[in-house]
Amino acid sequence: GQCITHCPTGALRERDDTDKLYCALEDKDTIVVAQIAPAVRAAWGESLGLSREEATVEKIVDALRRIGVDYVFDTTFSADLTIMEEGTEFVERFTNGDLDMYPMFTSCCPGWVRFIKSQYPQMVNRLSSAKSPQEMFGAVMKTAFAKKMNIDPDRIFALSIMPCVAKKDEREKPLFHGEFAGHGVDCVLTTRELDRLIRADHIDPKTLKDAAFDTPFTEGTGAGVIFGATGGVMEAALRSAYYLITGKNPEVDAFKQIRGVNKNGWTEAQFEIAGNTIDIAVVSGLQNTRNLMEAIQKREVHYHFVEVMACPGGCVGGGGQPIHEGKELASDRGSNLYFLDKTAHLRFSHENPDIKHLYDEYFGSPGSHKAHQLLHVQK
Ligand code: SF4
Repeated sequence: GQCITHCPTGALRERDDTDKLYCALEDKDTIVVAQIAPAVRAAWGESLGLSREEATVEKIVDALRRIGVDYVFDTTFSADLTIMEEGTEFVERFTNGDLDMYPMFTSCCPGWVRFIKSQYPQMVNRLSSAKSPQEMFGAVMKTAFAKKMNIDPDRIFALSIMPCVAKKDEREKPLFHGEFAGHGVDCVLTTRELDRLIRADHIDPKTLKDAAFDTPFTEGTGAGVIFGATGGVMEAALRSAYYLITGKNPEVDAFKQIRGVNKNGWTEAQFEIAGNTIDIAVVSGLQNTRNLMEAIQKREVHYHFVEVMACPGGCVGGGGQPIHEGKELASDRGSNLYFLDKTAHLRFSHENPDIKHLYDEYFGSPGSHKAHQLLHVQK
């Protein structure tokens, strides 16, 4: 039925999309499928009175089920998928000499993508064509998942829980696939909106129990989890690029020197992989990014691969996370994600068994025609 958005005062504070979710939950024909971004797990409990140990991601799964969501998945899964596509693209572009003068930039932060488009349009073709984990997840939901479950993709309402306000705009990008024309993701709620949703549903956070993610896209690796912290996308990509180049895994913490929040400037590193020297840089915060872009353009520095996150410290410090006046929590929350990586049973994206199945059953191989159609931005 027709849904009316109430609460006009909400618009005065910040955009609140919870009504969109309530409409979808009320419609019996709609199947609500949620994804939870890595950085959300590091912060959602802060404003609900839960300690870091109590506020597990599995309790968000329980909360969403109690609210009425039909399937709950982990964006960490599609972060692994992003690594497969972006890592493959990096190795190709590196090998064919495309990165000899200017780098390839990560493209999963919509704050950064908007920045480069408006401030450095001549560099836009240096962005990786890989979609972000949020967008890849949506594309998988409306295609591979719909097919596997034998559901009309038009009945699927894809919800994202994100640390980020800019992800609301990112989801506006259309998705076309055969008969389907719509969006990969239908609604984005921030961590703050999730917390409000839990309170509005009168769920006592202390009563939440650990609940398992749904199948078939259950597994996410430690490499996918660290996407939420500055340097994490680069580290995850290097772990798999090493494998793609050499056919062997690196020592899992081989790239750990790029971890940590660099407040004033950017972090650079050089790695040797099978006789190739790979120069990389990691930056977060838009002022630092501007300084780095100027240096790259003037060719004062040269890198092959650069990770950029608009928010200082990466998504853990995102604009949709709980706010604590005068406190800077990105670093603590980032450490939390590195702890989850350290204790994860899988730490390489290319070893994610559910990703392997998805390629076997649906996409073929990373960089395939179908993968390009659905998982990359069309140029
Ligand atoms: Fe969003 Fe900030 Fe993460 Fe970029 S760094 S994706 S703007 S939360």
